[in-house]
Amino acid sequence: MNTDIRSMTLEELTAALRELGEPAFRGRQVFTWLHRGVRSFDEMSDISKPLREKLAGVYRADGLTVSRKQVSENDGTIKYLWELHDGNCIETVLMRYRHGNTVCISSQVGCRMGCAFCASTLGGKVRDLSPGEMAEQVIFTQADSGVPISNIVLMGIGEPMDNLDNVLKFLELINHPLGLHIGMRHISLSTCGVIPGIRRLAELELQLTLSVSLHAPDSETRSRIMPVNRAYDVEELFSACRGYFEKTGRRISFEYAMIDGVNDAGWQADLIVKKLRGMPGHVNLIPLNDVAESPLKPSRRVRQFQQRLERQGVTATVRRSLGGDIDASCGQLRRKEMMKA
Ligand code: SAH
Repeated sequence: MNTDIRSMTLEELTAALRELGEPAFRGRQVFTWLHRGVRSFDEMSDISKPLREKLAGVYRADGLTVSRKQVSENDGTIKYLWELHDGNCIETVLMRYRHGNTVCISSQVGCRMGCAFCASTLGGKVRDLSPGEMAEQVIFTQADSGVPISNIVLMGIGEPMDNLDNVLKFLELINHPLGLHIGMRHISLSTCGVIPGIRRLAELELQLTLSVSLHAPDSETRSRIMPVNRAYDVEELFSACRGYFEKTGRRISFEYAMIDGVNDAGWQADLIVKKLRGMPGHVNLIPLNDVAESPLKPSRRVRQFQQRLERQGVTATVRRSLGGDIDASCGQLRRKEMMKA
């Protein structure tokens, strides 16, 4: 029995309620309440008591709970460590940008992609998150903080393309007019380069922004820091990205964490330029976040690298780092909790 009611689409919920003898509009009522962030069926004031009790006997409405909350004194970034029903925990970060309040959500508990610089993958993957657990991160972050959320990035813990069915259902839920109704153009999905996922997403022609974690334009370096490159080589990745752009017309954003002496050489900037020729792309340079367990260090050549790209016509920005004082990056808070346990 699936008790995860926030994973249900409006159609599924309506069908389930019909089986309980309820009219179609009941589905809309319950769906609306759930996405507004109530934590119990008793709060659904326009639903009869017998039905509320019946629902509470089958499903759970409470959702994930705050295990820790940290607020950055520098920039108001809020980081939540949530506890799931099975005791696992995940992170969500709320960032205030000029272009809107953005929530960065997790798609899995842990990750099996093994990137050398990333804290989220250190303990491997525990399990996938359900569509409802992804939606709840947005719903309860908004409810708890009181900050209206306008943008979502799937850039927290986990590899979205390794849980794509659930991610697609999450997008449908969060995009729904009776839910938070966040438009696809306000959503970014980041992948380390799982090519079948990129191809599948391209076919759907969604208007979301695809971010690709590139981190090196040459196969040798990329395989060294990202094991996924041994399965899906960077040449094939560029070709899949080209296909994605041709199909969707959407510019791809390439993430590039700058690591000292690994991926910050001039020739690597030149190679990026060459590979992106004829495809509108945007390179997002991220100063590497120091992860205690990793010998990799932040690059000191970020500006030079950026200028070298820009001079050759590739737009490149350096990501402003928020929440540095609260470990608001890359699975670091969850990692700390795990080490304590
Ligand atoms: N699995 C997806 C999404 C999650 S990671 C992906 O790989 O794209 C979100 C981004 O943070 C990715 O670009 C990832 O490579 C990057 N990242 C991970 N650890 C980092 C670190 N220590 N410093 C800077 N960026 C990091």
